[in-house]
Amino acid sequence: MDYKVMIGLEMHCEISETNTKVFSSAENSYKDIPNSNIRPVDMAFPGTLPVVNKEAVKMALKASMILGCQLPTHIYFERKNYYYPDLPKGYQITQETKPAPVGSYGLFKYECKGEEKTVRINNIHLEEDAASSDHYGSFSTINYNRAGVPLLELVTEPDFRSADEAVAFLETMRSIYQYADISEADSRKGQIRCDVNVSIMESDKDETDPKNWGTKVEIKNVNSFGGVREAINYEIDRQIELKESGKYDEMEQQTRRWDEDSMSTIFMRSKVDAIDYKYFVEPNIPKFKLSPEWLESIRAEIPELASERKAKYISQYGLSDYDATIIVKEKDISNFYEETVKLGADVKKAANWLTSVILGYLNKNEIEIKDIYLTPKMLFEIMDLVESGKISSKQSKEVLMHVLDDKKEPALLVKELGMEQISDDSTIREIVVKVLDEHPDLIEDHRKGKNTFDFFVGQVMKATRGKANPSLTAEIIREEIDKR
Ligand code: ADP
Ligand code: MG
Repeated sequence: MDYKVMIGLEMHCEISETNTKVFSSAENSYKDIPNSNIRPVDMAFPGTLPVVNKEAVKMALKASMILGCQLPTHIYFERKNYYYPDLPKGYQITQETKPAPVGSYGLFKYECKGEEKTVRINNIHLEEDAASSDHYGSFSTINYNRAGVPLLELVTEPDFRSADEAVAFLETMRSIYQYADISEADSRKGQIRCDVNVSIMESDKDETDPKNWGTKVEIKNVNSFGGVREAINYEIDRQIELKESGKYDEMEQQTRRWDEDSMSTIFMRSKVDAIDYKYFVEPNIPKFKLSPEWLESIRAEIPELASERKAKYISQYGLSDYDATIIVKEKDISNFYEETVKLGADVKKAANWLTSVILGYLNKNEIEIKDIYLTPKMLFEIMDLVESGKISSKQSKEVLMHVLDDKKEPALLVKELGMEQISDDSTIREIVVKVLDEHPDLIEDHRKGKNTFDFFVGQVMKATRGKANPSLTAEIIREEIDKR
C-alpha cells in the first residue's frame, strides 16, 4: 500500500530586532544573568498594564505581507488562559480568532530542491513568549528574561508532503525573518521552535476532502530543523507500521515530543485531554485601527529578499544556481557580495572569491563574515590589484589570506611581501633582450617549431623573482624575437 503524507507546521519565531519586549519596556535582548531583564508587568504584579510595542506590530505586519496574508482592519489581542509556573499572569496575550491575527489565509511560494511549491498559510499572529524554565534533579528554576519577548506564530495548512518540503519552507522563513530585519532567527538561541503535525492517508484517496485525512499527531517544541526532519521521518515510519498492523484506526489524536537521545517521538498526551483555553478579548489593550498610510509605509520597507536576490544573480549576473544559492543563504554574505559589486567589482569574479576562498575560510574557522577583518572594500582592492597587473592572481590569494590572518590592509601587505608586479615595459624589455642575446640557438629552435618560448618566460621570471607581469612578458618576448 502506498501512502501520502500530510504535514502542517506551527513555527514560532521570536522577534529579536525590537528594542523592547512586546508589552513592556524591558529590553528585548539576551541577558546572561537570569531575571535581570524584567519589568513589573512581565512579572504580572497587580495594577500593571501592558503597552503594545508598535515596532513589534509593524514587524509582524511585514511578515504577514511577505507571506501574502490578508491583513486585519484592526489589531486587538486575546487571552489564552492556562496555568504554568513560567506564566505568572495565568494567561498568555496572543491573537487567536480571525480576523484578529496580523495575517490570515495566505498563499506562499517557496522552493524545494529546485521546484516551486505552494503552501497555504492559515494565519500568522503576534504574541508574548513565556518565561523559560530549567529542570534539575529535584528542583526547577524559572528565568523571566524571556517573559514578554515578542513572538510570531505561523500556522500552515497541512500542505507539505515530505520532510524535505517542510524543512525547505522553514529555511525560507528563517531567511525572510533575517532579510527583513525581523529576527536573527537563530535556533541555537532558541529563537525558533516548531510544532510539527503529521498524518498519513492512502495515496489513492482524495486529499481535498478532510474526511479522508488520517489522524493528526502533533510533535511539540522541536527546536532544530534537523530535529524537524528526523521527527517527521520517524513519525511517518511509525504511522505506516501502525497502518500495516491494523492499529492505525485505534490511534487517538495525540501530542508527542521529539526525543533527541532516543531519536524517537514519545507520547505526551491525548487530544481528548486538550485544555480549554477559554479565549476572550484582552480588556487591557484597546482595539486599534490600522491606517492604510501606515500599512503602505510598512510595505514600502520590505527589502529585496533572498529569492529575489538569487533570481537577480542568476539572470542578470550570470551566476550558476549553485553559487547564487550559496551566496543568498546568509544575509550577511549576500550583503558583503552586494557591496563588493556596488564598488565596481566583476560580478562573477567577486562571486568566485566568496564561494571558494572566503566561505572556505569561514567554515574552516567556524566564524561568521561579520567577524573577519576583510571588508568588501578590501576585497575590491585586491581584485583591482590583479586587474591593473600589480600582482598576479596567484599572489592575490596569498594577500587575501594575509588580510584575514594578519589583519592588515591589502596595499600594505603587497609592499611588505615584496609582491608588486613589474608591469613596466622598459624594465621587462631590458631583461628580455639580455635573455635572448644569451641564447641565439634557442631562438633558432623556436623558429623551427620547438617549444623554447616557455624557457624564455622562465628566465625572465627567474631574473625578476616572479614579479614580471606574465602576459606583458610574453608579449615583449614575441616582439623581440620578431625583431631579430
Ligand atoms: P488544533 O486545533 O488541534 O491545534 P489545527 O486545526 O489548528 O489543530 O491544526 C494545527 C496544525 O495541524 C496546522 O498546522 C494544520 O495544518 C495541521 N493539521 C491539521 N490536520 C492535519 C492532518 N490531518 N495531518 C497533518 N497535519 C494536520
Ligand atoms: Mg493549534
